Amino acid sequence: MRPTLSWTPTADLPPGTTDVGPVADALSAGGVLVLSGAGISTESGIPDYRGEGGSLSRHTPMTYQDFTASAQARRRYWARSHLGWRTFGRARPNAGHRAVAAFGRHGMLSGLITQNVDGLHQAADSEGVVELHGSLERVRCLSCGAMSPRHELARRLDAANPGFAPVSATINPDGDADLTDEQVGDFRVLPCTVCGGILKPDVVFFGEAVPPQRVEHCRELVHGATSLLVLGSSLTVMSGLRFVRQAAQAGKPVLIVNRDATRGDAHARARVALPLGSTLTTVADRLGIPVDGLSAT
Ligand SMILES: [Zn+2]
Repeated sequence: MRPTLSWTPTADLPPGTTDVGPVADALSAGGVLVLSGAGISTESGIPDYRGEGGSLSRHTPMTYQDFTASAQARRRYWARSHLGWRTFGRARPNAGHRAVAAFGRHGMLSGLITQNVDGLHQAADSEGVVELHGSLERVRCLSCGAMSPRHELARRLDAANPGFAPVSATINPDGDADLTDEQVGDFRVLPCTVCGGILKPDVVFFGEAVPPQRVEHCRELVHGATSLLVLGSSLTVMSGLRFVRQAAQAGKPVLIVNRDATRGDAHARARVALPLGSTLTTVADRLGIPVDGLSAT
């Protein structure tokens, strides 16, 4: 579940470090399972919910309950998400995504779980990415279960809403742009082309459970890993934190790269309190791995 939206660090957490050595050592040993969060995508222009200027301070994410209960909530969601989709479509992987892909190509990773719905790990050519909270690139019908590509719905929405081009100053990590009710106006929401049912992006909303088979698959990935490397997540929500706890309980080293304190710090061998892109580039340099995919041998 993702309903817990706030968490306050306690004073007894271990402090962060600027030493990237433990991260390099873990990758060098291999079998590293990466768990990434919104923090790895901020350098691609997608803001985090939390941390400095985090969008939770001004934006309440859509909950599953609101979305399913109210046609007006769905109109608001789809208008905002349709606008946000254009911004997401322009976002490109940054040095952090490219470094993770390079670690994967060099056989250092046993798996990659992301809490992000932006598709940027795949865009950086990482393989076998497990999307814990789903993806904005797919749309699912809540009635018949039909799945369709988001770009098809985007095309239909463009045609159904000619002239819809509001300007939003902010975009959120769930692909939801900030719009006023006036800007949403009478935005037309479209039904499933198969059965006329309600369409929802194939993402896990706040207040919604991650599908059990997906959780089980992630548990198996933790079970099979040598260590767990958390990249850019405050681990505020249980959907990611439970894998940190599982790894720690199994005696596997947990390493975290996140500028701010996280809810998993008490379970971690170390938290590197530095920006993701430069940290992972430094680690790759130390390991002698080219990060740019084009220069990889
Ligand atoms: Zn349907």
